[in-house]
Amino acid sequence: MIDTTSNRPVRHLLGLSGGKDSSALAIYLRDKIPEMEYFFADTGAELPETLAYIDLLEDYLGKPIARLNSERDFEYYLKYHNNYLPSAQQRWCTVNLKLIPFEVFAGNDEVISYIAIRADEPSRSGYVSKKSNIKTSMPFRDDGINKEDVFDILESSGLGVPKYYDWRSRSGCYFCFFQKKEEWLGLKKHHVELFEKAKKYESIDEKTGRIFTWNQIGSLDEVIKRAEADQTKVERKNKKTVPKKLIDAFCDEPKDTEDACLICTL
Ligand code: SF4
Repeated sequence: MIDTTSNRPVRHLLGLSGGKDSSALAIYLRDKIPEMEYFFADTGAELPETLAYIDLLEDYLGKPIARLNSERDFEYYLKYHNNYLPSAQQRWCTVNLKLIPFEVFAGNDEVISYIAIRADEPSRSGYVSKKSNIKTSMPFRDDGINKEDVFDILESSGLGVPKYYDWRSRSGCYFCFFQKKEEWLGLKKHHVELFEKAKKYESIDEKTGRIFTWNQIGSLDEVIKRAEADQTKVERKNKKTVPKKLIDAFCDEPKDTEDACLICTL
């Protein structure tokens, strides 16, 4: 396809988050759109499992995945924001580490951006750029691909799901403020050094007494206490009923966090 105004080929871009949906979309489109360009906006705070999965995917796709943000990572923007942690209300992390790098990567070329919204997600829209040169395409929605199909695509490719699915429902930064308390507990169990690092970002403003934490519940220690208490309750209940497999429990994707961080986690 040629952009008739510049006579340059239209670029086909697919952003990978290390999550199941964008990974499955890359696999699904590999042979359909050979000119596809892949990119991964690395925040500098990704889980090791995510980075390992992106490497595996790169081998499978047989093409380089462009890593964005090599110079300006989370630490850089945290300093820029006077050490104010990002939050659901102040999402400077997504803007600076995901959205802007994508738009810079696209430049002024005519671009089709492929988004992994599935057919069973009618209310989701994903990130649609306001730049007129960037059009979006949602092949899964157009082709009726649902969550079960996504798992089938990943299994048939031999890649399977990223390893963090053993304890966490989505990709994204290890300290993402959208994660659930049981996922914080998972981080502590699987990557105690990252959990401790996340704790160090929390602080109290001596002048105002204002507390800056990742979670509204309180400090991460408090979050863990509550998660452990919940876990004990669930374990007691599960002794009486048949427990769900962990991956099924995570993949329920509760509605309240459904649109939490689409560009970071699809
Ligand atoms: S994953 Fe979470 S913390 Fe990381 S950029 Fe996205 S919203 Fe921000």
